[in-house]
Amino acid sequence: MREHVDAVVVGSGFGGAVTAYRLAEGGKSVVVLERGDKFAPGDFPRSRTDMSRAFWDPKASLYGMFDVWSFDGLDSVVSSGLGGGSLIYANVLMRKDERWFVHEQPLPGGGYENWPVSRAELDPHYDEVERMLGGTPYPLDRPAYARAGKTHVLQDAAAELGLSWHLPKLAVSFAPSPDAEPALGLEIAPAPYGNLHGDHIRRFTCRLCGECDIGCNDGAKNSLDHTYLSAAQHHGADLRELSEVRAIRPRHGGGYEVEYVRHDKTGGAPDPRTITCDRLVLAAGTLGTTYLLLRNRKALPGLSDALGTRFSGNGDLLTFLLNTRERDRLRPLDASRGPVITSAIRLPDEADGFPGAGRGAYIQDGGYPAFADWITAQADVGGNVARMARFLLDRFREFISGAPDTNLSQELSELIGQGALSVSSLPLLGMGRDTPDGVLALRDGRLDVAWTTQTSEQYFERVRETMRRIADVLGAEYKDNPMWFLKRIITVHPVGGAPIGRHPGEGVADPFGEVYGHPGLYVADAAAMPGPVGVNPSLTIAAMANRLASRILEPGGTGQAAAARPAGGVGDDAACDRAEPEGHAGQAGRTSLSFTEEMKGHYRAGAGNPSPGSGEPFSFRLTITADDVDRFLAEPDHLARAEGWIESAVCGGRRRVEAGWFNLFAPGGAPDRRLMRYRLHFTDADGRLRTLSGWKNVFHGPPTDIWADTSTLFFRLLEGHVAEGKDEEALIVGAGTLRIELVDFIQQLTTFRTEGPKGLSALERFARFFVGELWDVYGPAKRKVRV
Ligand SMILES: Cc1cc2nc3c(=O)[nH]c(=O)nc-3n(C[C@H](O)[C@H](O)[C@H](O)COP(=O)(O)OP(=O)(O)OC[C@H]3O[C@@H](n4cnc5c(N)ncnc54)[C@H](O)[C@@H]3O)c2cc1C
Ligand code: SF4
Repeated sequence: MREHVDAVVVGSGFGGAVTAYRLAEGGKSVVVLERGDKFAPGDFPRSRTDMSRAFWDPKASLYGMFDVWSFDGLDSVVSSGLGGGSLIYANVLMRKDERWFVHEQPLPGGGYENWPVSRAELDPHYDEVERMLGGTPYPLDRPAYARAGKTHVLQDAAAELGLSWHLPKLAVSFAPSPDAEPALGLEIAPAPYGNLHGDHIRRFTCRLCGECDIGCNDGAKNSLDHTYLSAAQHHGADLRELSEVRAIRPRHGGGYEVEYVRHDKTGGAPDPRTITCDRLVLAAGTLGTTYLLLRNRKALPGLSDALGTRFSGNGDLLTFLLNTRERDRLRPLDASRGPVITSAIRLPDEADGFPGAGRGAYIQDGGYPAFADWITAQADVGGNVARMARFLLDRFREFISGAPDTNLSQELSELIGQGALSVSSLPLLGMGRDTPDGVLALRDGRLDVAWTTQTSEQYFERVRETMRRIADVLGAEYKDNPMWFLKRIITVHPVGGAPIGRHPGEGVADPFGEVYGHPGLYVADAAAMPGPVGVNPSLTIAAMANRLASRILEPGGTGQAAAARPAGGVGDDAACDRAEPEGHAGQAGRTSLSFTEEMKGHYRAGAGNPSPGSGEPFSFRLTITADDVDRFLAEPDHLARAEGWIESAVCGGRRRVEAGWFNLFAPGGAPDRRLMRYRLHFTDADGRLRTLSGWKNVFHGPPTDIWADTSTLFFRLLEGHVAEGKDEEALIVGAGTLRIELVDFIQQLTTFRTEGPKGLSALERFARFFVGELWDVYGPAKRKVRV
């Protein structure tokens, strides 16, 4: 029998680890499939030979952490391993600036950038992630940490240039426990949830070795393997490394089927496996997730045309300061001492209220990540230059031939294998709000990126100019990295590709990350970013994943439909699409209530009215949520939101309800008549907008009618997304009748959930209202005649 779980999470980086932990903690059965290997403290490469094998390219029997990609306008370094980017990242945890969550901001080359989420919504999630990752600034004020030349020069330059500077939080243990004083090389107290590397693993506080970007052999980095993934495993998540997902498809009857291979490091052929799940969370990173969706597009026909869009390198720009001077002497920077990044200078943005400032950016001090030495080689002399020149020449040849080998891991492995380079310079790392107009697509089955620096030219010029000024005030020489001469950038922060958006025309997934057209499929990583984060993105990726997980764990929480009343007229899909989620369950002070309903029946194309009898099979499964029970009960039309899917061959299979509304016992025009109304907007497989407009008639009659009345739904299918009150003007496509079976009704009773204070009382009030309404309609005081 096939293995089946509640949730499969693909990838174990920031999005994957956070989602896996939250879902496992919430009682779901979770399997994490991670293509890369597991690296415990002590496993990270340090020798030249080990570094030469530290790349990811299974075809060449390389199973290391660095996955290097090369595209037309840029190169990118991402990670492969249990813990994703956290294994090699520089630990910087920064929140996206409040005003950089822009709304419909025009882009230089056309189109606009829009963030359908705000800083206020993310703040509680930022808090949670920071707590879990132990975010704390570099303790510059403590004597043992004060000798940090690179930190001081950046602070001095900022003061001289009148720019703001600060020490961002780092996910590094400087102290052995949260309340203790920082001290070098002390053993860190174990976490209550244990460590996935085993109980024998000992971790030590940061000893300022500057090797964060090649893996921390001391365990001082609070990387995801030591934090979220260990906690996920503690709650029962099954973490499978060397497990690479190749294919995904919807599963007949709901959920998803996932094909993956288990790599064999001893040289055996990859072992193919299949697993099925109710929910599939894609968190393979911008390149990994977009590649998977593009490759499996045929199996996922509902995917939005926005797939592949909104790509950017988060404004990454790497440059160098050489020979920094103080008066007439070289100023020692100790660039390899301390965590790789310790401080940040901020360049304001027009969105901050500085007209003409341009797009905002940050500039940070970089350490000496050994793997990046190949980039800095041009500052060196001697035989190494020849190797670098050959490498660059090869890259240039590929560039002009237009046929780059998009995966460079093997090439780099050879380059570094012949001799690591050492340089004496301070890398400066720029990042910010470049233009998110890159497009990811498949070319001959391989991932390709169409992105150029052109539309971001002003942004890059501003960052380079500021870096030059920093060099000037420090008496240093400024150097671009060699790639810049080819108008290429190297990014470690790729974002976008499967962006969130307010509707399928704008994004691949809804504002929480659930994929439009494919309920139960989620994007939880950097691919979901609808534009550059502007700061180092991992904290925002993790916070958004945390928010998505909260949404999934809400009672019946899968959908993006708002409880907002539909606005506009017939076919006014723009108005309906713009209905932003109007708050969701569990908001401060409110109590929400939800239940899930499944109905089955028949539908006849061309029929104007529902009639009993046969037709095409038709069904739906909806989760009805009243976000605020008090308001729901008080308002006369008792409106809740409906989320879920509709299924019928006439609509092309299972279709997501893009927006849905449900009224319980709305006035029916007579004292003894109530209506249960359903209005569901969806798009059929041929891209036609449809509305299911349905009603249950609750009429006075003998109590034996109660079951028939409340379990029978009559509906019409209308052309377009039709707003309430506009049915008369809409074109009727067909009509049908759905029923809830007794067994499904009993099942429905088990799906009632509340969230928020006094849940039991909310449930009782709801039940009293329900029974009271039925008594009003069917009670003995009423007339015995139906109208
Ligand atoms: C050198 C370096 C320094 C950085 N420093 C910082 C920093 O200081 N602060 C910051 O915020 N960000 C930093 N970043 C960026 C940060 O690492 C990424 O933004 C972040 O890791 C992205 O998170 P994610 O969840 O999207 O994907 P990732 O963390 O990249 O995780 C994706 C995971 O999916 C796996 N995967 C891919 N395809 C498949 C597949 N088909 N099947 C199974 N698994 C798959 C990958 O192996 C990987 O482990 C740095 C990056 C690098 C390379
Ligand atoms: S500086 Fe060294 S010890 Fe500290 S976090 Fe980085 S790699 Fe670990």
